[in-house]
Amino acid sequence: MNMTDTTRITDYYLLDDLLSDEHKMIRASIRQAIRKDVRPFVEDAAQRHQQIDGLMQTLGEIGALGACIPAEYGGGGLDQVAYGVIMQELEAVDSAVRSAASVQSSLVMYPIFMYGSEEQKRKFLPELASGNLVGAFGLTEPNHGSDPRSMETTLRKDGVGYRLNGAKMWITNAPICDMAVVWAKDEESRVRGVLVQNGMDGFTRKETLHKWSLRASCTGELIFNEVYITEGDLLLGVDNMAGPLSCLNSARYGISWGVIGAAVDCYQTALRYALERMQFGKPIASYQLQQRKFSEMLTEITKAQLLAWRLGVLKDEGRASPQQISMAKRNNVQMALEVARESRQILGAMGIVGDFPIMRHLMNLESVSTYEGTHDIHLLITGQDVTGISAF
Ligand SMILES: Cc1cc2nc3c(=O)[nH]c(=O)nc-3n(C[C@H](O)[C@H](O)[C@H](O)COP(=O)(O)OP(=O)(O)OC[C@H]3O[C@@H](n4cnc5c(N)ncnc54)[C@H](O)[C@@H]3O)c2cc1C
Repeated sequence: MNMTDTTRITDYYLLDDLLSDEHKMIRASIRQAIRKDVRPFVEDAAQRHQQIDGLMQTLGEIGALGACIPAEYGGGGLDQVAYGVIMQELEAVDSAVRSAASVQSSLVMYPIFMYGSEEQKRKFLPELASGNLVGAFGLTEPNHGSDPRSMETTLRKDGVGYRLNGAKMWITNAPICDMAVVWAKDEESRVRGVLVQNGMDGFTRKETLHKWSLRASCTGELIFNEVYITEGDLLLGVDNMAGPLSCLNSARYGISWGVIGAAVDCYQTALRYALERMQFGKPIASYQLQQRKFSEMLTEITKAQLLAWRLGVLKDEGRASPQQISMAKRNNVQMALEVARESRQILGAMGIVGDFPIMRHLMNLESVSTYEGTHDIHLLITGQDVTGISAF
């Protein structure tokens, strides 16, 4: 195998043949832009636990936000496979970069497009697509993570409007968001979607500090104290929990592609290192134990690529079930975590320093395994699908 051909190294089953010319063109353009405009700044941002300067605008400029939103609203008008390909390129750089694009595209723009009024779409979607506005998605609460149906945030009728009360926690981009899609229960205990904007009375944001994971992404709390909500701030098309769950399906699908990018970056880094690093007079890549690691990693990467691609095709045909998405999210994140761990071992002590991206990917992937439904919960979703019995 030609070692200078990095695509061939990790496209073992020639899956590129299954992509259209447009997909490949999009991938090449995102790859070139993200590696030039974002990758050089990622390690430093992660070390300093700071958001990359101007990240959202850059993502907007390179067309990485709202890929599947129609062009008339500022989106890319692309298919689901294209969205996956974009997420893969972003996460090859850092999961924080992909998270920023996932939240903006799947968790903020998608619900506005699906459930918003024409006025809301025209007002928010183009600004979100360009990265001029930063959005957040508020579902998780201090007391309710895996069980969002039990949320305590409330939306109470008050004259012609409503009052929003409660708190959301672990929210990506909370400290820097201009607006947020927030999920709350009305007086009939039905889940409603609300568009909250920065500057509304009673709305505050707080950063969660000292993270060891996704350090180049900011995370925080959204707090609502009698925030006045008008009818025009509501997402009127939302049908209870189906609203937030539909957003999560879109984001989880993107994760199943994205994490392959992180895994490939770890694998390629480790392979280059193992071919050059000499111990006992030979490259460590020549030892059977190391070759086993590479063989297993490449096998798992290839299986994950097939899963993500097939899921993308099913999604484009409108045939992907939430349960299939759960399987791909869980499998591919676990695959990426294991590849990152093995790759770090291959670099020995060098594996723990920021000169190489592996430890950063490894720490990031711990969060990716937890958010958008934990590893355990996705297993239980498959279990429920298989047996017809819910274990949660
Ligand atoms: C960096 C980061 C960014 C995030 N961004 C967002 C965001 O933008 N918006 C948002 O709304 N949320 C966000 N989250 C929150 C994330 O979605 C939740 O952390 C996740 O849903 C899990 O909830 P929890 O942390 O409260 O864990 P818990 O629900 O308390 O679960 C703890 C453990 O118990 C297990 N468990 C729970 N219930 C069961 C059961 N029935 N059976 C077996 N095991 C069970 C879980 O698998 C897990 O291992 C983010 C989280 C992180 C870490």
